[in-house]
Amino acid sequence: MKVLSSAEILTLDRTHLWHPYSSLDPEAPLYPVASAEGCEIVLTDGRLLVDGMASWWSAIHGYNRPELNQAVTQQLAKMAHVMFGGLTHEPAVRLAETLVNIAPPGLHRVFFADSGSVSVEVAIKMALQYQLSRGKRSKTRILSVRKAYHGDTLGAMSLCDPETGMHHLFQSLLPQQIFVAAPACTFHQPWEESCLEDLKSALREHQHELAALMLEPIVQGAGGMRFYHPEYLRAARELCNEFDVLLIIDEIATGFGRTGRLFACEHAGISPDILCLGKALTGGYMTLAATLCTEKVARGICDGEAGVFMHGPTFMANPLACSVALASTQLLLHSPWQERIAAIEQQLCTELLPLRDSPVVADVRVLGGIGVVELRQPVDMKVVVPKLVDQGVWLRPFGRLLYTMPPYVIGSDQLRQITAAMARICTA
Ligand SMILES: *Cc1c(COP(=O)(O)O)cnc(C)c1O
Repeated sequence: MKVLSSAEILTLDRTHLWHPYSSLDPEAPLYPVASAEGCEIVLTDGRLLVDGMASWWSAIHGYNRPELNQAVTQQLAKMAHVMFGGLTHEPAVRLAETLVNIAPPGLHRVFFADSGSVSVEVAIKMALQYQLSRGKRSKTRILSVRKAYHGDTLGAMSLCDPETGMHHLFQSLLPQQIFVAAPACTFHQPWEESCLEDLKSALREHQHELAALMLEPIVQGAGGMRFYHPEYLRAARELCNEFDVLLIIDEIATGFGRTGRLFACEHAGISPDILCLGKALTGGYMTLAATLCTEKVARGICDGEAGVFMHGPTFMANPLACSVALASTQLLLHSPWQERIAAIEQQLCTELLPLRDSPVVADVRVLGGIGVVELRQPVDMKVVVPKLVDQGVWLRPFGRLLYTMPPYVIGSDQLRQITAAMARICTA
């Protein structure tokens, strides 16, 4: 097959494809990629872009890593896939064992799913089926917080922020969940007990109908890039126990070191009843997610009327994805990831925090390998993205948020290029 030119790729794309949250606007900036290496994306016209997004939190080791390539090719020579109903394999069991060992304590059973959103659906179903199994038939709703983001499938959508999420479009289709205010105490501010009031009163009032509380730990990601106080998470765990509500934690964005701890739950020293993992799980190589639960939840589900947990994707525990996830996790654990994240955090603080003085900037916040510049006005993507690309930087702002979560292996010069490009957006 002949190699397509950049123009041919763009024309075919504009003719046939959807992109994430896209319209059919032919003017929306779009860049054909030829390859990616280390922390750089190579465009088909030869330009290099330093990647400030780690392909949406996932490519933590950068691109084209020999260790990860090898994991895929070695597994490929054995089998790309077999069904998981009635069959099992080494990549799945080794990955499950590894995840159980490194995840917050008590989560002993692993369900592999295809994507983060599906792992959230699985978590919701686990909570609902658990409550049904123990005869708590009225516990059918989930408690969520404003500014949350948990994915794009219908169940996950029902737990996203009701205003910035898609509730208004799909109102009649979504399960009606219960929402409390977004955690008000930020990560770096002193803790105030009053931050818990809304959560406490919702749990007290709705305990009889609540199956679970769903939270992103410490970092509210795509719903607003907010960092909240660990005490909120710790108290949420206690309140869930008090009111007999399961705690589901969505570490899809935060897992595998991004916040400076291997899992963001560790900031609060808590374990959930159900945990969702995704994004960085495979180091950005393939789509894979996992829903972990305690033995109590697993037993509860299987002792019930159905006797089985009612979910089973066709590509469950795909061996290629499990192999590369195992290799990525080993690579992470054997790397100085804590020092790397600390160095990124330090540099982001030094280079981004001064932007607070800009009149167009509302706030700047940094946590671990995440740097956020919140602007006063929404970003015009058609202007800002090409400007960033002209400076050799790949970022994908949304709304009023210009932010970066680079691969952990990014060099300080590369990171400086990213922060300088962000600064230029705030000063131009
Ligand atoms: C990205 C994300 C999801 C959804 O994962 P997909 O793989 O995109 O389906 C869910 N929860 C959080 C916190 C996320 O960041």
